[in-house]
Amino acid sequence: MTSYLFTNGKFLAPGETALRGGVEVLIEDGFVREVSDRPIQSAAAIRIDLRGKTLMPGLVDAHVHVISAMVNVAENAAQPSSLATLRAARVMNGMLMRGFTTVRDLGGAEPGIAVAVEEGLIDGPRVIPCGKALGQTGGHSDFRARADDREGVFAHRVGSLGRICDGVDAVRRAAREEIKSGARFVKIMANGGVASPNDPIHALGFSRDEIRAAVEEAENAGMYVAAHLYTDKAIRRAVECGVHSLEHCNLIQAETAEMAAKAGAVACPTLVAYEGLAMEGAALGLGPESVAKIETVRKAGLESLDIMRRAGLPMAFGSDLLGGLHKYQSMEFEIRARVLPAHEVLESATTLAARLCMMEGEIGVLAPGARADLLVVDGDPLADIAVLGRHDRIAAIMRDGRFFKNEVN
Ligand SMILES: [Zn+2]
Repeated sequence: MTSYLFTNGKFLAPGETALRGGVEVLIEDGFVREVSDRPIQSAAAIRIDLRGKTLMPGLVDAHVHVISAMVNVAENAAQPSSLATLRAARVMNGMLMRGFTTVRDLGGAEPGIAVAVEEGLIDGPRVIPCGKALGQTGGHSDFRARADDREGVFAHRVGSLGRICDGVDAVRRAAREEIKSGARFVKIMANGGVASPNDPIHALGFSRDEIRAAVEEAENAGMYVAAHLYTDKAIRRAVECGVHSLEHCNLIQAETAEMAAKAGAVACPTLVAYEGLAMEGAALGLGPESVAKIETVRKAGLESLDIMRRAGLPMAFGSDLLGGLHKYQSMEFEIRARVLPAHEVLESATTLAARLCMMEGEIGVLAPGARADLLVVDGDPLADIAVLGRHDRIAAIMRDGRFFKNEVN
């Protein structure tokens, strides 16, 4: 594989509040080999003169649905699997070209899609899959209309975000099946949701015993459970049952946030999802039952960031966009920066998201031994985070030592 030596740029290290000058980075065999503030010698490497541009780790989005080609989740599930797979490839390419070199998929992507990226069949980000999201009858994985009583419609298809299971034994079995197929964590729907037709936001999903069963199965496999959650009550219950990754959390209150922080949980807010749905959801086919639910969670979103920050609950970057709304993925940076300092937002999309991918030290950081996932940005994201949403300002994108875009020289 080609080796590269990046010189003469600014270096962005997650957690730091200013860029560093004079740092050189050597990439060999798809990994970061050396990072030094002195000149690195390498006869074999191609020298890349950054001319003052910023070198930073590739971005990590810790909440996506790569198989979502359509906003309407029922229609998405009904697609022929062949078509859904090819459409997912296009969605994934869009993510990579926005600078996301790894994504954690929170429901839908079969592990085969992650393998397809590894094999080079899809020019997309590395995918950390959970397979299908587990949900109860009538819950957030149940996309059937009220009058539709057909069993588990389309749950086996590529375009389905989730599958239905009821009862402790069924939850265990479903978790085991997803893990056996290559899931890297287990996703459950433990609260009502916007995109599903029959579950109001306040509804709790699964019994405590079912949640604990999923947690036990995940932990037995050395993994964790991520849960779809909005209300304070649902979040509290999930933390009590051992859930580690708390998705959305729009309606969380201070006491629960503190308790979650003490338990070592990580939150993954996804604020742009509601901005996107509010702007274009209805036009893109979101059902009226779903449109009516958007505002309940959208307004509380920004407030939740402040509550979680004060409680010391770590927050990873998530976007959770569906179908035609994926184009807004990078807008999550600007939305968070209204409440949080830029360096914290950058940590959320690098080191913190890496933690949820269980790839700490491997991604989200440019240090010896890490995967060579990096961006070259024309500008300083710490001073103006919106630059990450400008395609023309992302001059280069590398994943695993391979350039997918290089307009540096
Ligand atoms: Zn989601």
